[in-house]
Amino acid sequence: MNGSKKEMHLSTKVIHAGNSIDPLGALATPIYQTSTFVFSSVDQGASRFAGEEAGYIYSRLGNPTIDVLEQKVATLEKAEAGLAFASGMAAVSAVILGLVKTGDHILCSKGLYGCTYGFFNWLKERFGVNFSFCEMTDEKTVMQALQDKTKVIYIETPINPTMELVDLAMIAKIAKQAGIKTIVDNTFMSPYLQRPLEWGCDIVIHSATKYIGGHGDVVAGLAVGSKELIDEIRLTTQKDIGGILAPLAAYLLIRGIKTLSVRMERHCENAQKVAEFLESHPKIAAVYYPGLASYSQNPLAKRQMDGFGGMISFCLKGGFEAGIRMMNHVTLCKRAVSLGDVESLIQHPASMTHAVIPREKRIQMGISDGLIRLSVGLEDVGDIIEDLEHALLYV
Ligand SMILES: *Cc1c(COP(=O)(O)O)cnc(C)c1O
Repeated sequence: MNGSKKEMHLSTKVIHAGNSIDPLGALATPIYQTSTFVFSSVDQGASRFAGEEAGYIYSRLGNPTIDVLEQKVATLEKAEAGLAFASGMAAVSAVILGLVKTGDHILCSKGLYGCTYGFFNWLKERFGVNFSFCEMTDEKTVMQALQDKTKVIYIETPINPTMELVDLAMIAKIAKQAGIKTIVDNTFMSPYLQRPLEWGCDIVIHSATKYIGGHGDVVAGLAVGSKELIDEIRLTTQKDIGGILAPLAAYLLIRGIKTLSVRMERHCENAQKVAEFLESHPKIAAVYYPGLASYSQNPLAKRQMDGFGGMISFCLKGGFEAGIRMMNHVTLCKRAVSLGDVESLIQHPASMTHAVIPREKRIQMGISDGLIRLSVGLEDVGDIIEDLEHALLYV
């Protein structure tokens, strides 16, 4: 990228990493909106298919705009290679299908994103790939949860929506000893705040729909890891199942990533202030945010995260009805699922995302009736707090 040997800082890399120099000198990455690529001769086509000559063939197999995105994210996550997908779930499913077969077992952190849980259930019912949950609080508990057929440990940290953390270094060490792979869904943190490969994990997955895109206008997914692992997924479950990203979406993500560092810093700063406000409010029973001094895993948060993120969960004393009333009285915060956008987004799992789950089971999962999840946006923090304070008057 430049002549100096010193590694550049992440806030420089988000802007410059992966950008190839366009032959015509365009500063922004051109959108190669093409399905296919023309060969100059039969020989050239043959050598590209044989892998003897580098070059493009067909956009499901590779595209220059997508290459820039993949390289950029791989650099940020300190990975050898990256792979872009049509959605976060396309990334989760392609990575898992690339690593397991019938009879294998996946050991999961206590909570999972709803559709990941749905996919694992479907795999179990249709293809006999088993999975189980584990608290992952200490080494012994994790070792005991491993089975002979465990091929993969699959983690989210922080866990949605309780914001509990899993010690990445501890899990990676156990997995290495057992000769199995660790996969981390890093969506809640973004590579700016947490890089699981640095702790020894093998593959990182993102719903790029969230912080990486950052503007609520793209659905996309990413996976990064060693060249060997990523190439295998690229040439099997991505190529043949086909959940590839469109070049225009890749362009929007490249553009979004350029402001990742400034956005994440502001998300963290705003969330810290909002969490402190919520914690002091008499109508709130508990606030779950890793940056609070009252948060039990604060030392682990400080060790493996470079900031505490923009996601907060809190529990209203008034339960389900209070949740509905609070939701109906916010005006600046938008009632919507998803997260990581410039707009603050608020949702009430008991009446929205988790409404179909029987109450008892939902509460077991840590989702109480009055739990609210807030993705703190980039608005002025005084305005966000005022909106929440106003809505809380009706609770
Ligand atoms: C949104 C999300 C996903 C799924 O991503 P899509 O882009 O919606 O397919 C996976 N994991 C986490 C933690 C998410 O928040």
